[in-house]
Amino acid sequence: MEKYSLVKVIGEGSFGRAVLVRCKSSQEKYVVKEIQLPKNQSKLENSRREAILLSRMKHPNIVAFREAFEADELLWIVMEYCSGGDLLQRIKQQKSNQFSVDNILKWFAEMCAGAKHIHDQRVLHRDLKSKNIFLTDNGTVKLGDFGSACILNSSKAYAHAYVGTPYYVAPEIWDNKPYNNKSDVWSLGCVLYELCTLRHPFQASSWKSLILKVCRGAYPPLPSHLPYELQYLVKQMFKTNPKDRPSLHTILTSHRVSKLLRTHL
Ligand code: ADP
Ligand code: MG
Repeated sequence: MEKYSLVKVIGEGSFGRAVLVRCKSSQEKYVVKEIQLPKNQSKLENSRREAILLSRMKHPNIVAFREAFEADELLWIVMEYCSGGDLLQRIKQQKSNQFSVDNILKWFAEMCAGAKHIHDQRVLHRDLKSKNIFLTDNGTVKLGDFGSACILNSSKAYAHAYVGTPYYVAPEIWDNKPYNNKSDVWSLGCVLYELCTLRHPFQASSWKSLILKVCRGAYPPLPSHLPYELQYLVKQMFKTNPKDRPSLHTILTSHRVSKLLRTHL
């Protein structure tokens, strides 16, 4: 860590903390996620997985990995700094001022491109939500936080110890089915809906009624001023059977909204 000097702490979680640093030689800013390494061997692998999977990604819409190292029971993951903060903060800043359709489509197209890259590497993100999607200073979105990611079809895909916010979790997960690529598509549908309405699609005052709404796929309709293609897309992404949901490849290539999206990539 001698290469970097600390600027400030920007996030603190159960894993440890995220700090903004500056590289002493290049003066570039980076984010370092500092993770407390557990002593238990299998948990140790879980912690390392985040760095390994992030390091495999190379895409303009995924937070770029720089390096990772371990010392004194700590793992440091050095990555690109997204100075625009996360998308949840950005949504909250809007108060009740809706995003333009162009803006929604641009961000959504970027998210889909990043997520497709993840799926193309046979990796599942498993924690896509507005808080884990970051903005650069020029307004590009990048997917980050690979702390829950796993390799597709690994035994780990079945054991999704759920910890985070429940709003983005697909119906099959509540039904104890394995996490699959379409579960990520559901979560991105939740983010798309949030961009369109500034609200979660599935919200309730108790876990039980939230899960019921998710499993029925019952969400308030989008405002009618939005283009029909967006309404249609959201409906497809919220199909309760994952097999009926489009893949990211389908959304980006053959979906009727793809033409709209491609003009924004
Ligand atoms: P976790 O959600 O597991 O606590 P994250 O990887 O999401 O960990 O990081 C925690 C917080 O640190 C984020 O919510 C964000 O505020 C900040 N952060 C993480 N990575 C970046 C980044 N690359 N650029 C800017 N901020 C970041
Ligand atoms: Mg996070």
